[in-house]
Amino acid sequence: MLDLVAKAGIASVALGAVASLGGCNSAAQMRNKKLNGSIGSPIPSDPVARSHTPSPIVPSRMPAISTQLPLSSIPSFVIARSKWTSASPKRWLADSMTRIDRITVHHDAIMPVPSGSYTDSLRRLNLIRKGHLSRGWADIGYHFAIDPNGRIWQARPLELQGAHVKYNNPGNLGIVVFGNYEKIRPTQASLESINRIVAYAMERFNVPLSAVKTHQELRSTACPGRNLQAQMNITRARGGQLALAAANMSNHSPDHS
Ligand SMILES: [Zn+2]
Repeated sequence: MLDLVAKAGIASVALGAVASLGGCNSAAQMRNKKLNGSIGSPIPSDPVARSHTPSPIVPSRMPAISTQLPLSSIPSFVIARSKWTSASPKRWLADSMTRIDRITVHHDAIMPVPSGSYTDSLRRLNLIRKGHLSRGWADIGYHFAIDPNGRIWQARPLELQGAHVKYNNPGNLGIVVFGNYEKIRPTQASLESINRIVAYAMERFNVPLSAVKTHQELRSTACPGRNLQAQMNITRARGGQLALAAANMSNHSPDHS
């Protein structure tokens, strides 16, 4: 029997007070601060999204992924952590991730609107990490981050338990999307990347669709914002891309039995 539940504390005990510049809003923060107190203006549409040719996740296109890959392995479509920081997590402050059996999607709730440029994303990752470190955490709390241009960044290494949902971090892979989706709408490119990394993780770790959540489905919070929540509802519903990916998973075992 894994004792991760009992050990959940160290990295997650402080999660009730997520920094306004350090990640998504938690229940505690929501009690103390209105979500819409940030500065910035909505962007109803985005040049990246307009110019992007949608390429939906086609389940049959997904490569077969061994469940035996080491957790340190990341897929080729993910930008390595080394591209945005040379710092290592404070591993002594985090529990090990000994299993992955659920996935949670967040927004970072940070305004102004992310530009989607490579350098802006570098800065944002470091900003979020700095905010999380200031709370005594081991590292940035999420495992992957997605920018408006659809780039997928490696954040906290998968070998370490995340710090992104209070009382719900063991076994929970955390994905953050840059932006405040109470105010803005997610780009098509970011939505496709959410589907891509979530579908990948579902298949690699044999996570059922029912275990793909958003932050607000686990805790009292606005995260990931109403506009992203709506898209997560669509992609998981019948006919949605993640629902299709899940159906494809169950159709081709025995690797995933
Ligand atoms: Zn969140």
